[in-house]
Amino acid sequence: MKSREISKVWTVMPQQESAIHKVGMVLEPGNFQEYDPFLFMAEDWFQRGVFDFHPHRGMETVTYIIEGILEHTDNKGGAGKLNAGDTQWMTAGRGIIHKEDPAEGVTVHSLQLWVNLPASHKMTDTRYQDLQSEKMPLRQEEGAQIRVFSGSSGGVTAPTRNHVPVTMVEITLEPGATVTQDLPGSYNGFIYVLEGSGTFGAKQVEGKKTQVLWMSPTGEGEESEISITAREKLKLVLFAGQPIKENVVAYGPFVMNTEQEIREAYADFRSGKFN
Ligand code: FE
Repeated sequence: MKSREISKVWTVMPQQESAIHKVGMVLEPGNFQEYDPFLFMAEDWFQRGVFDFHPHRGMETVTYIIEGILEHTDNKGGAGKLNAGDTQWMTAGRGIIHKEDPAEGVTVHSLQLWVNLPASHKMTDTRYQDLQSEKMPLRQEEGAQIRVFSGSSGGVTAPTRNHVPVTMVEITLEPGATVTQDLPGSYNGFIYVLEGSGTFGAKQVEGKKTQVLWMSPTGEGEESEISITAREKLKLVLFAGQPIKENVVAYGPFVMNTEQEIREAYADFRSGKFN
């Protein structure tokens, strides 16, 4: 088992976009090779109307609710409600038009990660997985609770279906407690600290609330693990996934492999083929 190291640390700086929307970039868009299979991640604070009906194609959105209640509706009759601690795993695939709206009078604080789809799956059927926190498997260790939303942790495996293998866990650690998360050595991954502070990886790099800790792969075909120790009570989310290693052309809400496919996405959207 190879011990992972933290290769990079940065701090998320939220900016006020409008009176009802504040956003921080956890993963800046454009670094598609480095973050593969992840495209970007935003931390949002928003009210009703910010994410009104809009399309997606060629990717998945993974939305984790930190605070508030989020309602979602789509053009195919899908609808649902997410509470704090819940995650929605939406596969846009060939195309979806949806809106993501906080409950009336509520400000939602959330993370949204975009996961790429490989060329062979970009036009797959749209699929929702509403992953309610209390229904997801929980790994318990001394001073540690690991909620498994996708992939596995210490032999505890989530039933979540993946097109691209992704591990997503939410970890809560008591001060002084240590936990290790196992990951295939080929995965790119990162930790985003939601509360508290701690040390991370083989070299015990310091990290605290609002910081992102990047974990580079250790190597194809080997197992790895990242160790995490809480200084103050620590809460974080960890995402890691298998790189796709394909060309990425992203334009607005569409993520394809070529410019031609982006043009087709716009043409299909305009001619009602997303309905
Ligand atoms: Fe969306």
